[in-house]
Amino acid sequence: MAIVDLHLHTTASDGRLTPTELVQLVARRGLKVVALTDHDSTEGLDEAFEAARAFPELTIIPGIELSTDVPGAEIHILAYFIQYRDARLQETLQKFRVGRVERARRMVEKLRKLGVEIEWQRVQEIAGEGAVGRPHIALAMVEKGYISQTHEAFDRYIGRNGPAYVEREKLTHQEAVSLIKQWGGVAVLAHPAWVSNLNDTLEELKAVGLVGMEVFYAQYSPETIQELADIAKRHGLLPCGGSDYHALGNPGEPLPGTMGPPPEVVERLEKLAMERA
Ligand code: AMP
Ligand code: ZN
Ligand code: FE
Ligand code: FE
Repeated sequence: MAIVDLHLHTTASDGRLTPTELVQLVARRGLKVVALTDHDSTEGLDEAFEAARAFPELTIIPGIELSTDVPGAEIHILAYFIQYRDARLQETLQKFRVGRVERARRMVEKLRKLGVEIEWQRVQEIAGEGAVGRPHIALAMVEKGYISQTHEAFDRYIGRNGPAYVEREKLTHQEAVSLIKQWGGVAVLAHPAWVSNLNDTLEELKAVGLVGMEVFYAQYSPETIQELADIAKRHGLLPCGGSDYHALGNPGEPLPGTMGPPPEVVERLEKLAMERA
């Protein structure tokens, strides 16, 4: 068990626990520092900070996860210590979330053409106030009995190269890192083992301000983690990580705190963010 987890989702995006429920869970599991990293949304943060008042030992870092499509793959960028009350930042996130709605609608249409009949209205209900994402579509498919677990939707239909996938609006990975810098945050490459030509990508992203990459990612094997630790060291990047917990109920889904970076990594991230603000 780690005491730091820098990758967690809530109902503000595609996680299934509310910010309050997540805070209670991480406190119960003995975590000391956690970052909420919802997709394109900081809407869960105020509630999380409020809930965390009951747990003085627990520190919450304001974070976010931005997604970008690159040819044939996806790159996700995590941000920490962003000035999330900034109006321009919120305007940009709002735009991203509107783009998500259009994209999800198109995926539902593509699914229908493939014989998977789920209602767009139901997807919206499942997403609630949160930034809509593919897991919400997957949950609607489970409800209708087309699949029994959400990961099957990705394997068969809405994974990056699946027949019902729809690309998101163009945001390059460099643009994502630059935005995060403008927002006063520090940028970290998420789940890098799924990034092809990782070394080139790291160089491109370092040039625009990347400070870290995930190493201690709960779904990775000890061998992968060792390899990533070496790569991070070689590139002078802080080794970050966490569980990427969504409470989606897939078998073997790692719980918060299954893995995470050592506490000094958080101190160094914060110091870099403070130098930036
Ligand atoms: P979206 O933000 O709509 O592009 O959806 C991305 C989210 O889908 C990720 O954050 C994960 O929660 C989930 N996801 C992506 N790939 C898979 C997969 N192969 N199995 C299960 N969930 C996945
Ligand atoms: Zn997600
Ligand atoms: Fe991700
Ligand atoms: Fe994530």
